[in-house]
Amino acid sequence: MSGKLYIVATPIGNLEDITLRALRILKEVDLIAAEDTRQTLKLLNHFEITKPLISYHRHNEEVKSHILIQKLKSEENIALVSDAGTPGICDPGEEVIKKAIEENIDVIPIPGACAMINALIASGLSTAEFNFLGFLPLNKKLRKEKLEEIKESEKTIILYEAPHKMKSTLEDLKDILENRKIVLARELTKIHEEFIRKNIDDLLNEIDNLKGEMILIIEGATKTEETENELNSLTIEEHYKYYEKQGFDKKEIIKKIAKDRNVNKNEIYMKFI
Ligand code: SAM
Repeated sequence: MSGKLYIVATPIGNLEDITLRALRILKEVDLIAAEDTRQTLKLLNHFEITKPLISYHRHNEEVKSHILIQKLKSEENIALVSDAGTPGICDPGEEVIKKAIEENIDVIPIPGACAMINALIASGLSTAEFNFLGFLPLNKKLRKEKLEEIKESEKTIILYEAPHKMKSTLEDLKDILENRKIVLARELTKIHEEFIRKNIDDLLNEIDNLKGEMILIIEGATKTEETENELNSLTIEEHYKYYEKQGFDKKEIIKKIAKDRNVNKNEIYMKFI
C-alpha cells in the first residue's frame, strides 16, 4: 500500500488561521514538501513541529515530483505546503498531484486559507460565479488577449498581482474593461488588512500609496438594454456561442438564453440535444 499525499493549506498572514487538522497532519506525516523550506521552517518552529523537509518549487517540480512519488510508493505519508495559503492555487502542486493520481495514490486536501476566496467573499461583489485568472501573463499582448476574452463576461473577475505591477495592471484593466467597480483586498488576515471599494479610475489615483500583498476583485460586465436587444437579434446558435465564449457550461447557457428570450428552457434545450 502507498502512503498518502496531503495538500495542506497554511495561513496567508495570521498564524491563527492554521486548522487543528492541518497541525495534526503536519505532525503525523513522514515528510513535508515545501515551496520554500526556510519559510515553512518558521511556521513549524512556531507550532513546535519537527519534521524532515524537502523543497518542491516551480523550478524543480518535475524532478521532485518523481522523488516524492517514489517515497509515497514506499509508504511514506507526505504533506505538501506552499509559502502561504492553498498549494496549487498560483503555487506549486499540480505536477505531483497529477502524478499521484496516475499512480492511484490518495490525494487528500486539508482545507484552510486561500487569499482569493477570502477577498471575494468580503468584496461585496457577486460570488455566484467568477473568473479566476490568477496572475495575468507578463507579456503585454497576451495579457490584453486574456482580458479581451472575459470582457463581456458577467462573472466577477479575480486577479492576483504583485504590488509593483499593480499600477500597470490597473491601466490595462481600465483600457479593456473600462471604468467598472473594483475591490482591492490588501494584507488579508494581517494587521493592516483593508478593502478598498472604488471604480478602476479612482483606484488608479490611489495605487501609488498602497503597499503589501494585494488582490483585485472586479465586477463582471453588466448587460445593457442595447446588449439585450442585440442578443435577441442573434440566431440561437450565435446566442449559444456568445455565452460559450464566456465560459458558461451547456446547462447554464440554455438557462440564460431562455431567460434572455423569455421562452421555456426546454424549448432551447431541444435545439441542442
Ligand atoms: N496559494 C496562495 C493562496 O492560496 O491564495 C496564493 C499564492 S500567490 C503566489 C501570491 C498572491 O496571492 C499575492 O501576489 C497576492 O496577490 C495574493 N495574496 C497572498 N496572500 C495575501 C494576503 N494576505 N492579502 C492579499 N493578497 C494576498
